[in-house]
Amino acid sequence: MSEASRAVLRNTFGFDGFRGQQEQIIDRTMDGLDSVVLMPTGGGKSLCYQIPSIAMPGVGIVVSPLIALMQDQVDALRVLGVRAAFWNSSLSLPESEAVRRELLRGGLDLLYVAPERLMLPEFLTILEQVDRGPGIALFAIDEAHCVSQWGHDFRPEYLRLSALRERFPETPRIALTATADAVTRLEIHQRLALDDATEFVSSFDRPNIRYAVVDKHDARAQLLRFLNDGELGHRGDTGIVYCQSRKKTEQTAEWLRQDGFDAEAYHAGLDQDTRRRVQQRFRREDGVIVVATIAFGMGIDKPDVRFVAHLDLPKSLEGYYQETGRAGRDGEPADAWMAYGLADLLQQNAFIATSSASEEHKRVDRIKLDAMLGYAEAAGCRRRVLLQYFGEESADCGNCDTCLTPPEQWDATVPTQKVLSAIVRTQQRFGAGHLVDILRGQRTPKVESYGHDALVTFGVGSDLGSDEWKSIIRQLVAKGILYPDPQAMGAFQLTPQAHAVLGGKQSVELRRAAPRASRSSAKATRRAGRSAAAEPVSDEEQRLFEDLRAVRRQFADAEGVPAFVIVGDRVLREIAADRPSDVDQLLAVNGIGPVKAEKYGARFLAAVAAASDR
Ligand code: ADP
Ligand code: ZN
Repeated sequence: MSEASRAVLRNTFGFDGFRGQQEQIIDRTMDGLDSVVLMPTGGGKSLCYQIPSIAMPGVGIVVSPLIALMQDQVDALRVLGVRAAFWNSSLSLPESEAVRRELLRGGLDLLYVAPERLMLPEFLTILEQVDRGPGIALFAIDEAHCVSQWGHDFRPEYLRLSALRERFPETPRIALTATADAVTRLEIHQRLALDDATEFVSSFDRPNIRYAVVDKHDARAQLLRFLNDGELGHRGDTGIVYCQSRKKTEQTAEWLRQDGFDAEAYHAGLDQDTRRRVQQRFRREDGVIVVATIAFGMGIDKPDVRFVAHLDLPKSLEGYYQETGRAGRDGEPADAWMAYGLADLLQQNAFIATSSASEEHKRVDRIKLDAMLGYAEAAGCRRRVLLQYFGEESADCGNCDTCLTPPEQWDATVPTQKVLSAIVRTQQRFGAGHLVDILRGQRTPKVESYGHDALVTFGVGSDLGSDEWKSIIRQLVAKGILYPDPQAMGAFQLTPQAHAVLGGKQSVELRRAAPRASRSSAKATRRAGRSAAAEPVSDEEQRLFEDLRAVRRQFADAEGVPAFVIVGDRVLREIAADRPSDVDQLLAVNGIGPVKAEKYGARFLAAVAAASDR
């Protein structure tokens, strides 16, 4: 078994060895048994079903909800000489007829289909014919979390996939996902009738991703600072910026363009052609930033996304982890950056409170939001918080903002009492802006009209700035000391905990808000942190890397596929560093197998030779 799969790994994919649990998963599938695979994005899920499909007799049927991606996956396999095809609604009648013939003739190693297509009676009939003839090697159910009714990717068609067990009881099935919370796991087993499946859970850590959260006060300036951050910034990088609303994606893309970035907006309200064009540009070109709602998501498989930025607070850690997981699939350093403020928190609270969902659903939503807040407000290592949520213990990571610059904790009991007292004295009827004005002694028209300048709390907080007060209020809400009443437009009410603080029975420890213009210090820590992850590259090596990229671009254009389908940046970096002088040396590069060496080797070697002559 392992012999055959190893041969495919080397000869077809050009990889030196298996990663993580790939080998066990492949062995089990080749033994005809079922598996559920939970692996983070970029962990290498595809090989788990591609290798058995190639190594075993018969065709591997891959169920994927992402029609837009099938083309790329099939292109990438064909570049490797694998007989792959897809069957979905984008095919013309003659095209699908051709696929059907190949399928029945045993001329395919892999076939990608959408779930609704797979479960059509005609299609199942064809599959039964294939099963009796050339054979079906396996069923792979990708993005298996789509069966979860609690998740945001729920696809009703996925529920019907459980019928595969009755129709094809002998065929091994393998369900894969990058979502790993306990509820989703259970649902995958139950709803796909995978009771006897072994579960393979990989570590969900993505060590090359650096997590950071900043207090939001001017999202535009903060995002630009993040992107422009000196030589280690993200000018020219591919990235995704997530926003909550459609309008905000358009505005943000517009001002990024004004600042010289190649940015495009993407949301469900755009027409299909525009969406397709944006996706295409993002996938095929270098350095495109997509500013999107979560509609831009599932199946973004571009390996060299260098950053994912969130301008608004996501609803859950699962969502956040999936979105940020789209960064750095190639294993190179990448950033997950989020700006978050009081308004986000109030908005999400109100959203849940006023939604028409069932009480049970609201309760789940609130638990999920609380976990998200726990992350956003974390005083310790953020990665630990994330991994803990997925049931994994870890040590401090050394590659997140709180590890690199531990936040200052301070005893905020007295300022908290000031806030609480201002709330009590204004009958729990006001929101943050007005409370901060009172605390800071600002005689605004609103303050004067209510006579709030006569309160004993008026001006007792002039020692702190308004950003600092907002940060305090935000943390008090996140800690459950204040309750924003969604029925009263976010006016704050005191919780039992608040009374304990007011009565002096409980103290309050908070994070100190970062000062506004901390640009130079942020830059210094970034540099220090990055250098640990990325090795410095000489100018010469960088130039060769650029040359190799240009060669790759020509191959990609000639074949009409995205550049990364030819080879990834990581492979080019390895060639630039090792400078192979013949095909044997080139084959030692991880990711170059015989097929790619034969097709592209000569031109890459020529680029290396030309660089040596410079
Ligand atoms: P996932 O589907 O889990 O997000 P992929 O299957 O797309 O991840 O794999 C992520 C990247 O890792 C791809 O570029 C893939 O070629 C690479 N990869 C996967 N397995 C190996 C391996 N054993 N050795 C080297 N690279 C690998
Ligand atoms: Zn950390």
